[in-house]
Amino acid sequence: RAKATAPNTICFYDPSMDQAVRERNALAIDMRSSLQNNEFELFYQVQNEAATGRPIGFEALLRWNHPVRGRISPAEFIPIAERTGLINEIGEWVLRNACREAAGWTNALGIAVNVAAQQLADLTFPAKVKSILTETGLDAQRLELEITESGIIEDQRRALVVLKQLKEIGVKIAMDDYGTGYSSLSTLMNFPFDKIKIDRSFVEHVATDSLSAAIVRSTLILAQSLNIPVLAEGVEGQDQIDFLKREGCLQVQGYLFGKPVPLSAIRPLIDVPAWAAEEAGPLGQVA
Ligand code: C2E
Ligand code: MG
Ligand code: MG
Ligand code: MG
Repeated sequence: RAKATAPNTICFYDPSMDQAVRERNALAIDMRSSLQNNEFELFYQVQNEAATGRPIGFEALLRWNHPVRGRISPAEFIPIAERTGLINEIGEWVLRNACREAAGWTNALGIAVNVAAQQLADLTFPAKVKSILTETGLDAQRLELEITESGIIEDQRRALVVLKQLKEIGVKIAMDDYGTGYSSLSTLMNFPFDKIKIDRSFVEHVATDSLSAAIVRSTLILAQSLNIPVLAEGVEGQDQIDFLKREGCLQVQGYLFGKPVPLSAIRPLIDVPAWAAEEAGPLGQVA
């Protein structure tokens, strides 16, 4: 700003920028100590079969209980972790803890874990995943890694190598936030996805907005022809679930079925044999 108005003046101090940078740096420093002090926590959001409402798995979502600022949203701190490189360490913490927890669930539901672009760019990532599976005893088939377009687009060859190794280990790969990036469908389809998660922004108005409906419908048709199951994110209302079921969407996730909650709150769903979980209602209330 000051530079633009006075090109020959060196700008030493821009209070607003300084403030933002300081805040980010402070958070980055706090993040490191929070990792050590157990101030991160995993929440779990149920994923359901659309037709029956039966729970099929959970997505692990990171929460930061900051000692001073209280709970900070991942939308705020994940980008900072990515910029500072801390994301690899945090991502590994998430993976290890999600796998450890899920390994103890008696009904063996799936566990989905978000993986950042930088983790996927690490050629040692598959080996890390493998050793975490061994260490925690989680069956590889139960683990699904959610990756976004940014995770595969920057270095496509490398991403393909890493994804193929992950598939060999036996874990599943889901395309997260589908529709929000800029890459073409044909690019995305070169990657071995086991699931496509349609972004909440398209699901939100699917029952009332014809453009959203067209995007979701065409995604479902494409995925069906490729035999890839689709999960719709952010399902909040009955009109949305009605549309999705009618159009053949197989899986759903959203506040209608359950918000992300601490582990203790999903106990009724995970500490039961599979037959009982199947009888649980859409909100997962086991009688
Ligand atoms: P995401 O992976 O797309 O996760 C879904 C987000 O949508 C979650 O937000 C979830 O709480 C929210 N959501 C689910 N259903 C509904 C709904 O019906 N309505 C509304 N309004 N929202 C819904 P959350 O937990 O705040 O996470 C935001 C993002 O932060 C995630 O988006 C993911 O990109 C990132 N994130 C969270 N945990 C991790 C992690 O462990 N590692 C990495 N790399 N990223 C993470
Ligand atoms: Mg996700
Ligand atoms: Mg998503
Ligand atoms: Mg999202």
